[in-house]
Amino acid sequence: MLNNDIKYLTGVGAKRAEILFKELGISTFEDLLYTFPFRYIDRTKFYSISELAPDLPYIQLRGKIIRFQEVSYGKRQKRYIAYFSDGTGVIELVFFQGLKWVQEKLKAGVEYIVFGKPTVFNRKLNLVHPEVDAPQTDSQPLPSVLQGVYSSTEVLQNNGLGQRAFLRLQTNLANAVLDKITETLPGYLLRQYNLMPLREALFNIHFPQSAERLQQAQYRLKFEELLYLQLGLLRVRNKRKETSRGFIFNTVGEHFNACYRRLPFALTDAQKRVIKEIRGDMATGKQMNRLLQGDVGSGKTLVALLCMLIAADNGYQSCIMAPTEILAQQHFESIQDFLRGSAVNAGLLTGSTKKKERRALHEQLLDGSLHLLIGTHALIEDAVRFKNLGFVVIDEQHRFGVEQRARLWSKNEQPPHILVMTATPIPRTLAMTLYGDLDVSVIDELPPGRQPIKTVHFNDSQRLRVFGFMKEQIKAGRQIYVVYPLIKESEKMDFKNLEDGYESITRAFPLPEYVTAIVHGQMPAENKNFEMQRFVKGEAHIMVATSVIEVGVNVPNATVMVIESAERFGLSQLHQLRGRVGRGAEQSYCILMTGHKLSTETRKRMQLMVETNNGFKIAEADLQLRGPGDLEGTQQSGIAFHLRLTDLAKDSNLLEFTRNLAEKILEKDPHLSHENNERLAGRLKQLHHKTKDYSVIS
Ligand code: ADP
Ligand code: MG
Repeated sequence: MLNNDIKYLTGVGAKRAEILFKELGISTFEDLLYTFPFRYIDRTKFYSISELAPDLPYIQLRGKIIRFQEVSYGKRQKRYIAYFSDGTGVIELVFFQGLKWVQEKLKAGVEYIVFGKPTVFNRKLNLVHPEVDAPQTDSQPLPSVLQGVYSSTEVLQNNGLGQRAFLRLQTNLANAVLDKITETLPGYLLRQYNLMPLREALFNIHFPQSAERLQQAQYRLKFEELLYLQLGLLRVRNKRKETSRGFIFNTVGEHFNACYRRLPFALTDAQKRVIKEIRGDMATGKQMNRLLQGDVGSGKTLVALLCMLIAADNGYQSCIMAPTEILAQQHFESIQDFLRGSAVNAGLLTGSTKKKERRALHEQLLDGSLHLLIGTHALIEDAVRFKNLGFVVIDEQHRFGVEQRARLWSKNEQPPHILVMTATPIPRTLAMTLYGDLDVSVIDELPPGRQPIKTVHFNDSQRLRVFGFMKEQIKAGRQIYVVYPLIKESEKMDFKNLEDGYESITRAFPLPEYVTAIVHGQMPAENKNFEMQRFVKGEAHIMVATSVIEVGVNVPNATVMVIESAERFGLSQLHQLRGRVGRGAEQSYCILMTGHKLSTETRKRMQLMVETNNGFKIAEADLQLRGPGDLEGTQQSGIAFHLRLTDLAKDSNLLEFTRNLAEKILEKDPHLSHENNERLAGRLKQLHHKTKDYSVIS
């Protein structure tokens, strides 16, 4: 029944079925049943017009339209006003779109229930595009105290699938399937955690019988959602741990020692600890899958290098994959520095590596004379084959999907050890959820002697002051980044921003006194490198760039990071950008430029940046403000998941709780074969039968 095609539900049919699928991804009864309201409104209360005020939330009125008026404004723009009265006063119902439909549907003198949010326009209260319904319709939704509001789209509304109609569908569905719903959690869990039975929960989430019942329903459904997610993830992990074999690297030899001895500084305690953790993994005989989190500049690359040298000491090759060419180049150069005078042979492979060089690299990889390969996703190409790849490092991992990683894994018969590095730290349980079965290491300490970066927030009208400051810094011999946002959907517009910015910078900082370089995403790699190198070598004073420089570049002499339209960046991104400065001995600055008018949330974000340099704090706040949406979408976890109710940022306690519970359940009953866990095993299979199984690789 639940698997029935949605078109067979009363009130749907072939055409609407198609629309439901296109707009909301609903193709079966079950899909609709699990499409939950995102908000609820109290439909028991009617306001009177005389008591309305602009700060009220959505409200409901009962009354009649007394007259209509069409107002033209601008070129060919019209708005349609219905004057609505309930005896205590008159309010305007305003429509800008679908005027024809409104004119046909609404009649004066008929009683309606209208629903909308009061706003003020021309110093009068309005309801813009309210829902208007006749008080009695033939099929009423099931009675409830709160009424669910479902996410909707214009297409849905234009095809007779607005809120009311959607509720009616949910009613028809509930009537058809609710008494056939079978429980999906074992009885012992329901009892132990006092959870609402599934049938009741599904009923109350669509048709809440009280605020309390609604809350219990939401809790039960979230609990289930997270428990199954964790069970799924842990089973993938366990399966891998049972079946995987990993290289054993138990020698620490000359390659490691030579580099270690020559380091111009001591490792931080955190770096030492992480290397120890990784060495522990390398000794178990299981394949390592470890996530290394550490703030920008915390020295992750060096940790990775030292581990790759251990691989080399044991006769294995390593590679490190970076998300951009510039970053790969920089890794290569700094690694070459650390390796100077050693017998370790490292190579660089990117999209712009010449054919001849490329062929030479391929050969050295195959005969084993190349120990370390550094590159971009050019490394994934089939032509790249290793003699014995033992250790893989992926830098700034959120840019690579799990499929891309899978292709690296398979470059060896026996999978190499994997170290994934990220400078976007997130809480541990969340990391384990988003990145599946990875173990997590943290570098929570910066190398000593770093001066904290001073961050200030200016608005556009203070630009001259900022230019003045930039000139002082350049006079003192420093270099400056000026960064513009790049948002995929409007690359053209951003490009214009960048060009305008570049122009105004070159006007304020003219040749020959000042040299300005420019880098953006649409440039050919060759030009990009050329411009970047001018800056790296100190030939250019200012680097105007889009956020392509977000990850990794290292120019210790750069002390000022100016971020234009800072309000358009996420917190973590701002923090990453800021991490480009403060790498040398001089005091560094980050200047956030924004417009004058900012939302409260944006103001908060800027304030937080000014207040703290702590990446964990910032990532945590970013998660609270934006949610983990992006991260979830990239499917790093090894099993695809889509959460309907849970907000990974807000429900972190429940996430932690269900993680522990899932661990306990699987500890006692690893294959869920116990009679008590029959429902868990069955439901888990149902949930994951469609998703690809990456357990072999992650
Ligand atoms: P991350 O990749 O974590 O952002 P990097 O590995 O690029 O950081 O390190 C930033 C800089 O700090 C590099 O120039 C690196 O050589 C230096 N560095 C790394 N570890 C130490 C340390 N223990 N003491 C001093 N400097 C260090
Ligand atoms: Mg780095």
